Amino acid sequence: MERAEKIAGHFAEIMRVLELDLEDPHLRETPARVGRMYLEIFRGLSEQSEPNITCFPNDDGYDNMVIVRDIEFFSVCSHHMIPFFGKAHIAYIPGERIVGLSKIARMVEFYARRPQLQERLTEQVIDFLEEKLAPIGAIAVLEARHLCMEMRGVEKPGALTTTSALRGCFNEPRVRQEFLDLIRK
Ligand code: ZN
Repeated sequence: MERAEKIAGHFAEIMRVLELDLEDPHLRETPARVGRMYLEIFRGLSEQSEPNITCFPNDDGYDNMVIVRDIEFFSVCSHHMIPFFGKAHIAYIPGERIVGLSKIARMVEFYARRPQLQERLTEQVIDFLEEKLAPIGAIAVLEARHLCMEMRGVEKPGALTTTSALRGCFNEPRVRQEFLDLIRK
């Protein structure tokens, strides 16, 4: 059976337990839609969707910070299977290689499209960047709203969770501060 159909079957079961009317015109196709949607929003689980990151030699010897900020992302909390979403700010200082800027956003997208923890997402993005670019330093700061904190549990609407991961020269307070000043502008 196709994966979308399998998910649909299980989701229909959840709906029955909730005593929803599966004959209702607005619910009849819902299990099938949810099945297809899960495969879409979790497409980052498939290795084939790993973005092809083309690197270029850093011929000009650029050795300052490259910052891509305000990368919007949507992910789903591993613990509750409801969304968390926000913005990622990423920077690196190139070594011998640089990368196309759009690829940094694609990389965030790839790791976000799976059940995730914000902490793990932050680390995975920076590990990937390290592996592909071997930069002198790299940092990721993610700010996100978690619906599992807003709709349920502590019910704190609007709370922002910030996570960060850093490597190399970003361990130096001066370098880290420069990044923080630049993303706050
Ligand atoms: Zn959660």
